[in-house]
Amino acid sequence: MSSATSEIEPAAAEPMVFRWHEAEVASVTVVTPHVKSVRLRCGIAGRQRAGQHVDVRLTAADGYRASRSYSVASVPDGSGTLELLVEGLPDGEVSGWFFDCAGVGDRLELRGPIGGSFSWDGPDGGPLLLAGGGSGVVPLLAMLRRRAEVAPNIPAALIYSVRTRAEAIALSELEARDRDEPNFSLFLRTTREGEGRRIDAAVVDAALARIGTPKKVFLCGSNRFASPAADLIAAAGVPPGIVRTERFGA
Ligand SMILES: Cc1cc2nc3c(=O)[nH]c(=O)nc-3n(C[C@H](O)[C@H](O)[C@H](O)COP(=O)(O)OP(=O)(O)OC[C@H]3O[C@@H](n4cnc5c(N)ncnc54)[C@H](O)[C@@H]3O)c2cc1C
Repeated sequence: MSSATSEIEPAAAEPMVFRWHEAEVASVTVVTPHVKSVRLRCGIAGRQRAGQHVDVRLTAADGYRASRSYSVASVPDGSGTLELLVEGLPDGEVSGWFFDCAGVGDRLELRGPIGGSFSWDGPDGGPLLLAGGGSGVVPLLAMLRRRAEVAPNIPAALIYSVRTRAEAIALSELEARDRDEPNFSLFLRTTREGEGRRIDAAVVDAALARIGTPKKVFLCGSNRFASPAADLIAAAGVPPGIVRTERFGA
């Protein structure tokens, strides 16, 4: 897949969210050995609620197109850009393009922001229980960034399950929040180093003890993470009606 330029079909009557918008790569930065931060300049930047995603569409020279969804990591900041955090998967068509090929000035298309129920803003309140596996932490990171701006007094806890510390996205930011924000607690679980612990009842109980009764729970990751996490959270007595789940990929 090469970088994309394409005509965007005229769709005046279509709601904005369904329309494709031209975007340009503004920067690409290495975040972990498997994840890159990609800043995209686009007219829809700044319209997102924390937790929402955009659809990305790439068009090859022969017209072949591929589209995938990516959570927006950034909160509106007036820069005209939004940040995606893309994990490069082996043989991944779109993530591979972002990871191996994308460079400043490349063009692609975006639509969105999408995902109203998996989103949060200050008036939605808390306490907030967040649980993310791997790149599933990205929308939760956006929620924590937004919370720090508009509602830092809302108690929040993030249970973050990742293979190793080196693979953890935004770990230094999350650890700084844990240290500096009195109402935020990070519970990091590394599955392939140290004690090799997955999310379990003990960490769910510890997170709930820190924040009190949650008003909202957001859970995001692969099925292998999200299914046991949802079961553990339900077993801890959290009513299913307040739990929002987003599942990525495999
Ligand atoms: C709402 C939503 C938000 C998302 N946000 C992000 C995000 O913030 N960051 C991010 O990196 N991804 C995110 N994803 C996943 C993303 O949309 C793609 O599925 C992912 O990048 C793989 O696409 P690809 O074209 O590279 O791989 P493909 O070419 O589609 O697949 C390549 C191979 O990898 C396998 N595979 C596909 N997805 C995964 C996966 N997640 N884990 C393990 N194996 C997989 C496939 O089965 C296949 O064998 C999100 C998905 C959704 C639905």
